Amino acid sequence: MKKWTLALVAGAMAVVAAGCSNSGGSGGEGGTPKAGVAIYKFDDTFMSGVRTAISAAAEGKLKVDIVDSQNSQPTQNDKVDLFITKKMKAMAINPVDRTAAGIIIDKAQKANIPVVFINREPMADDLAKWDKAYFVGAKAEESGTMEGEIVADYWKAHPEADKNGDGVLQYVMLKGEPGHQDAELRTKFSVQAIQDAGIKVEKLAEDTAMWDRVKGQEKMAAFLASHGDKIEAVIANNDDMALGAIEALKAGGYFTGSKYMPVVGVDATDAAKQALKDGTLLGTVLNDAENQGKATVNLMSVLAKGEAPTKDNTGYDITDGKYIWIPYQKVTQESSK
Ligand code: BGC
Ligand code: CA
Repeated sequence: MKKWTLALVAGAMAVVAAGCSNSGGSGGEGGTPKAGVAIYKFDDTFMSGVRTAISAAAEGKLKVDIVDSQNSQPTQNDKVDLFITKKMKAMAINPVDRTAAGIIIDKAQKANIPVVFINREPMADDLAKWDKAYFVGAKAEESGTMEGEIVADYWKAHPEADKNGDGVLQYVMLKGEPGHQDAELRTKFSVQAIQDAGIKVEKLAEDTAMWDRVKGQEKMAAFLASHGDKIEAVIANNDDMALGAIEALKAGGYFTGSKYMPVVGVDATDAAKQALKDGTLLGTVLNDAENQGKATVNLMSVLAKGEAPTKDNTGYDITDGKYIWIPYQKVTQESSK
């Protein structure tokens, strides 16, 4: 009797297993395909938001294995090798060094595992190497332009912002990681937008704070030590650095009484939205982690099935057969009311 029951159970299991392998070579539990996701480092505020968004969007669609590359490209390459060994059906890679995308594409192509790059944009030549290589992100220049417009609007509405009355906006720039498209283009296009609004500018100082809040605070303290009240605006490539700068400014007596400094960032993190409410951050730009995560999952899930991605099956426009661009959005005290 017992033996007979066992045989039945085993038979039922075999049927279930056969069902799984028929549903598109899933390689995952219960028919859900497995996908590997490598983040450049877990200790990055914005990428933590993208990570959360990927996990949430993956529910019921993909079994995602999200790993930390610890800000080391060799470590990330090892993670990619591991994804290949584990026979993932798709991968999403947030490169540590975006010029390493070419090597990762070679590995992915050899194993025939579609690869979606996120947040750090590979060079166009690298992406062109394989038709199953994609990018999900946002247009860096767009965020720079929006940041610059926020500063320009403020300057025009507040004549007292020109502290020395010379008709020129003296600013300092806190840059993200050099070579990152968001660092280079936000730096360039923020200033460009201010000039396009008819405002003369003078750069007092520029330094990288590597997207980091503590470094942002240190660099801002150094700017204050050498330029003091000559500084009329602080432009940061992201919110974490802007928030660090605000700490240094507070220590320098700003944001009490009438001592004010316009500070702008990018991302619209929770902490930044709080600073907007507090009146310390002038404005930011929404870097839409939720839609970037969702688009990444939808794209991987279509690719895992061996289908060609379209707007219909991913929910997002595919540009040039390679890119999903998620729009930025200005966030100011006014717009967040
Ligand atoms: C974000 C930064 C983040 C960086 C990581 C940028 O798009 O604005 O906050 O540190 O991506 O690559
Ligand atoms: Ca001035």
